[in-house]
Amino acid sequence: MHTKRANSESQLKRYEESIAQDGLRLTRQRKHVYEVLLGQQDHPTAMEVFLRARPDMKSLSLATVYNVLETLADRGLVRKVHLDSGSTRYCANNSKHGHFTCTACGAVLDVPLLPGAELEKLHQLPRGYTVTQQEVSLHGLCATCRKHHH
Ligand SMILES: [Zn+2]
Ligand SMILES: [Zn+2]
Repeated sequence: MHTKRANSESQLKRYEESIAQDGLRLTRQRKHVYEVLLGQQDHPTAMEVFLRARPDMKSLSLATVYNVLETLADRGLVRKVHLDSGSTRYCANNSKHGHFTCTACGAVLDVPLLPGAELEKLHQLPRGYTVTQQEVSLHGLCATCRKHHH
């Protein structure tokens, strides 16, 4: 618990420094939305973030939540994840990882990449191409659902 809190504090600080370069302040709303996202890292949609953040901040609007999530994504602090044909989900985990989606319950889990794994080497890129972003998406059954299926 201790490390998690320290971790979100350093991420909040990075966010504050990043937007300060554009003359923006870390307002209560920006801080609150990011804290909600860091607090429960289950890849919520903007609507889910809004529903979690709203009870502690009645003045918050869905538009503001979208706006804050966009600035976080622009600055590379939050990853937008598109796992299915549904809504964009937001991931505040900054370490290299892929996503495992359970096809039965829909849970989305962060799965760390093995140290030294170089994903771009698994594909044959056309000559002259370069990879700037990569996304690993695995689908299957989580441990709980797997038990229920058999
Ligand atoms: Zn993630
Ligand atoms: Zn499951």
